[in-house]
Amino acid sequence: MTGTCTHLGTVHHREDGTGVDACPACIAMGSHWSHLRRCTECGQIGCCDNSPNRHATAHYRATKHPIIRSVEPGEEWYWCYVDELAFELADRAH
Ligand SMILES: [Zn+2]
Ligand SMILES: [Zn+2]
Ligand SMILES: [Zn+2]
Repeated sequence: MTGTCTHLGTVHHREDGTGVDACPACIAMGSHWSHLRRCTECGQIGCCDNSPNRHATAHYRATKHPIIRSVEPGEEWYWCYVDELAFELADRAH
């Protein structure tokens, strides 16, 4: 079956990018980043695969937290590393 992510139960953090302007891991190492992503399981901010350090993907590899979302302004897409699937969620489910 394609087109379905089976990991939505891990999504605990749907917050947008309000107040998010840095990748903490890049700050710690004095590096820079391109775009920012949030781990939806634990809420950690990481940087995208166009960034030199790819902290969002590194976080997935280290923790197996499957889903990130973009916290760039106006972007609401999610990405599941396990299913390699991009999708959007309704902002208010109830
Ligand atoms: Zn999934
Ligand atoms: Zn980073
Ligand atoms: Zn996480």
